[in-house]
Amino acid sequence: MSDLLAKLNTEQLQAVTLPPQHALILAGAGSGKTRVLTTRIAWLLSTGQCDPAAILAVTFTNKAAKEMHARLGALLPINTRGMWIGTFHGLCNRLLRAHHRDAGLPQLFQILDSADQLAAIKRLLKALNVDDEKFPPRELQHFINAQKEAGLRPAAVDVWDDYSRRRVELYQEYETQCQRESVVDFAELLLRTFELLERNEPVRRHYQRRFRHILVDEFQDTNRLQYRWLKLLAGGEPPACLFCVGDDDQSIYRFRGAEVGNMRDFEREFQVTGVIRLEQNYRSHGNILDAANAIIRNNSARLGKNLWTEAGAGEPIRIFEAFSDSDEARWVVDEIQQLVRDGALRADIALLYRSNAQSRVLEHALFSAGIPYRVYGGLRFFERQEIKHALAYLRLIANPDDDTAFARVVNFPTRGIGARSIEALQDAARTWSTSLYATVPHLGGKPGTVLAQFVRLIEELRRETARLPLPELVDHVLDRSTLRDHYKSEKEGRERLENLDELIAAAANFTAEAQAGAEALAADHALLADFLAHASLEAGEHQADQGMDAVQLMTVHAAKGLEFDAVFVSGLEEGLFPHENSILESEGLEEERRLMYVAVTRARQRLYLSFAQSRMLHGQTRCNLRSRFLEEIPAPLARWLTPPKPRGGPGGGYYEPPRGAFAPRAQPAAAQALPGGLRVGQLVRHARFGTGVIIAAEGSGSDARVQINFGDAGIKWLLLGVAKLEAC
Ligand code: ATP
Ligand code: MG
Repeated sequence: MSDLLAKLNTEQLQAVTLPPQHALILAGAGSGKTRVLTTRIAWLLSTGQCDPAAILAVTFTNKAAKEMHARLGALLPINTRGMWIGTFHGLCNRLLRAHHRDAGLPQLFQILDSADQLAAIKRLLKALNVDDEKFPPRELQHFINAQKEAGLRPAAVDVWDDYSRRRVELYQEYETQCQRESVVDFAELLLRTFELLERNEPVRRHYQRRFRHILVDEFQDTNRLQYRWLKLLAGGEPPACLFCVGDDDQSIYRFRGAEVGNMRDFEREFQVTGVIRLEQNYRSHGNILDAANAIIRNNSARLGKNLWTEAGAGEPIRIFEAFSDSDEARWVVDEIQQLVRDGALRADIALLYRSNAQSRVLEHALFSAGIPYRVYGGLRFFERQEIKHALAYLRLIANPDDDTAFARVVNFPTRGIGARSIEALQDAARTWSTSLYATVPHLGGKPGTVLAQFVRLIEELRRETARLPLPELVDHVLDRSTLRDHYKSEKEGRERLENLDELIAAAANFTAEAQAGAEALAADHALLADFLAHASLEAGEHQADQGMDAVQLMTVHAAKGLEFDAVFVSGLEEGLFPHENSILESEGLEEERRLMYVAVTRARQRLYLSFAQSRMLHGQTRCNLRSRFLEEIPAPLARWLTPPKPRGGPGGGYYEPPRGAFAPRAQPAAAQALPGGLRVGQLVRHARFGTGVIIAAEGSGSDARVQINFGDAGIKWLLLGVAKLEAC
């Protein structure tokens, strides 16, 4: 232990060894906040000030929770598994399972992730014959979540006209539907737990007495309800010590209701006297840190701090301008190969992007080059179509009233149940206020007969799997549901089959972990319900845990709190990063800048920044100006790998490509022969995209590229030297 403390600097040591009191550690990226928080837990335990059961630690991601477990396990000779370390959602799930009756839920309640929630809302609107142009499902979803995050049930929401009244009615209907189906969305996890603690004195007292030290990482991103939740738990007699660490410059979830104001309220309401600041950065080399400082300095709303490091300046930041997104991806791959040849571990390299949609091109390039990679978030494993189908069967076994799951697989794989039958079922379920599943036996006629077969299948599955270990259970369900056969017969089904196998592996992993943990599981299928909760909560993070040396891909949001030797941030273009939705208002822009600050400060030794002149995104080719954030990096810190061009564009602002920039070019030049004897207007064939027409051409020699309309496969820019086009 003293070893551990010896490595801390004065301020860190002060923070770790604060006497039992509330504390706020406000510090910049890489200054050791998470390390201080973990070390404080170790210090509290090893000095005998409390036992592991008295600690509640809130992390921002499941990955961070796992790391904290691992670090504590390494520091102390204790089993950390039973400790309450997790995300807000994970901790709430645990509380609700333990007190499900008090919370008005069945033990095997299911969790809706946001895609499930949207599907449930769409289903509701349809059943109620609501015009979804007037009440777009996504907006309604956002509204409902915002109310829940503000702690407001329908009865407490203000209404002022017919529209707002109707919207609140829909919120109420949605709640009724969720309750009937025994499902809980993410916001509900929190609100339900909060209400449980608030209303149920014995339960509240129990946890208030139990948790003597509550520690929160990434405190700047807590929302109002989470803050109230913490306040409630810490507010016993005597109160618990609340130890929060955060960085206002890394607040990147305001769009989800996070409030930096919580930091000020915390100081005031808890009379925090000692706010400790850490300013020495231990993560990044000087150039990287200076760039981060220079970028964030452009924000106005800051609590203000500057980071410094003892590490030398290190290498310059590398900046690359690509022709196109695929050109950019190829460059990234080349650089990665070079890094690996130079001895880098792939797992120490991260590719970060602003939007999930950007990962596809990068993935493709990595895959083609045979470089192992893992995607965090994004096309999340548990969100893939085939996995969702399999999970829906599993969910029906655990909870037949889960209408979302029912609707998903009642006719998948197809078993001759038509839309009419399902509509008849939905109408009847509505009339009787029962779940779809429970309604089936009461439905007559042909719909009743075909649907009864499906219900029988689920009943049989439930019986057959009651005593099976979880991985075998999953395996059995994949067979009996005929999901496996279905994907076997699908042309592109190989990858999906692999993913289904991966689901069995995930179930095996989960079982091993659950057995290692102390928790006893009584009811049949209780482990299944836990696994399903895990699938909803840990979506995507599972992949990166396999200990394989793989390049890490993730959005900047998902990278928060993490660090890597080499970091690539691609797509630094106006409209993409900063994102077009935020560009027009200063608050949005400041949040984008904090996001850029997070991205840059993930790098230890090397930082690569890139942008592309043209990019295919959501099926459209876009030409964007390079990001203003690149301009904010002082020139001496960076090295351009491509000669920097003047930024241009009207007023340096967001640049719309001139209309017709990609229209067929009718100039005589277009008729000139291109390398390979091709011409604009000519029909060509490409191995992957099929047949298309060349509609534009640019550049010459090895830079010559053409724009081709491939019909269904879209319009693409291809480099002639690379694309291997065949004239037809
Ligand atoms: P972020 O804001 O990105 O979450 P953080 O403030 O939580 O960053 P940590 O992740 O705790 O920072 O620490 C950054 C890196 O610096 C880690 O690798 C950590 O081990 C290291 N570090 C922190 N303090 C020290 C120290 N006193 N001596 C050596 N290394 C340190
Ligand atoms: Mg941290």
